[in-house]
Amino acid sequence: MYYEKKEENKVRCLLCPHRCLIAPGKKGLCKVRKNIDGTLYTFAYGNLIAIHVDPIEKKPLYHFFPGEKTLSIATPGCNFRCLNCQNHTISQVYGEEIFDFTKHLSPEEVITLAIQEHIKHITFTYTEPTIFFEYMLDTAKTAIKSGIHCSMVSNGYIEKEPLKQLSPYIEAANIDLKFIDDNLYREITGGTVEPVIRTIETLYNSNVITEVTTLIIPGLNDSKEYFTRIAEELLKISKEIPWHLSAFYPTYKMTDRDGTPALTLKNLRQIAIEMGLKYVYTGNILDLEGSTTFCPECKKPIIERLYYTKKRIKIKDNRCAFCNSLIYGKFQ
Ligand code: SF4
Repeated sequence: MYYEKKEENKVRCLLCPHRCLIAPGKKGLCKVRKNIDGTLYTFAYGNLIAIHVDPIEKKPLYHFFPGEKTLSIATPGCNFRCLNCQNHTISQVYGEEIFDFTKHLSPEEVITLAIQEHIKHITFTYTEPTIFFEYMLDTAKTAIKSGIHCSMVSNGYIEKEPLKQLSPYIEAANIDLKFIDDNLYREITGGTVEPVIRTIETLYNSNVITEVTTLIIPGLNDSKEYFTRIAEELLKISKEIPWHLSAFYPTYKMTDRDGTPALTLKNLRQIAIEMGLKYVYTGNILDLEGSTTFCPECKKPIIERLYYTKKRIKIKDNRCAFCNSLIYGKFQ
């Protein structure tokens, strides 16, 4: 949908900030968009490499219908090249053969599947939903008509116009904010930071329930000074944004360092709370306090979780059941 024709049958893809200039017969950096005789085609549309039912907390989305299940879907491909990608076998497309392993489902068939499974949610996740933009948009538009809620988990690397077109159909999003400087973003992911921050801000201001995840990687973004810079950037958008601090584990091309100590995550969480962020969580470790939602006013636990499941919820009409304060999110 988002590209322009250039001289010599080349095309410029306008979907994500890479803005690939693609010669005839070649693909963009995400490897799922190809220039065929001056027209840009997507190979991703409807070709699912992953279909799972997950707790919505696993995305992670902690402020969006806690305790419910979501039909989680992905096509192959990504516009990042993260050295520590946990899903690299499906996100990094090395050849078109990967599409021999996909299952084709139209948007209508995805909705039918969700209804058959008695699930009221669909999440675009696992790989990068931006690269299957047209399919995500059509599925989300179809879902709304059936009363199904759509959410996405994304690296936030998308251009303004497609995001503007998508946001009315997406009710919640978790965006990865990995670093706060372009040097680390480029070295580890291949992207840059400004478009990601712009996406978080745009979604939040469009009334999409917006949560953010930062993977805390030892030696890269775990120092107090660096971490504080990320927190300051989020605070500029809103202190309401729930922030998930996740533990890194050595994987893929980043096996030169140990995993994140639980104590590091707990300390950083405390720093973020003291800086004014209202909802800060730890992830990928067992930490009951770091998995609990506390009312920012009366400090009482209002959503208790065990791993990815909700145990108890004390929120009524989006308000704390103890002190009546408004809580950010959608809860029923
Ligand atoms: S979506 Fe793919 S082809 Fe388009 S600009 Fe981004 S990486 Fe390049």
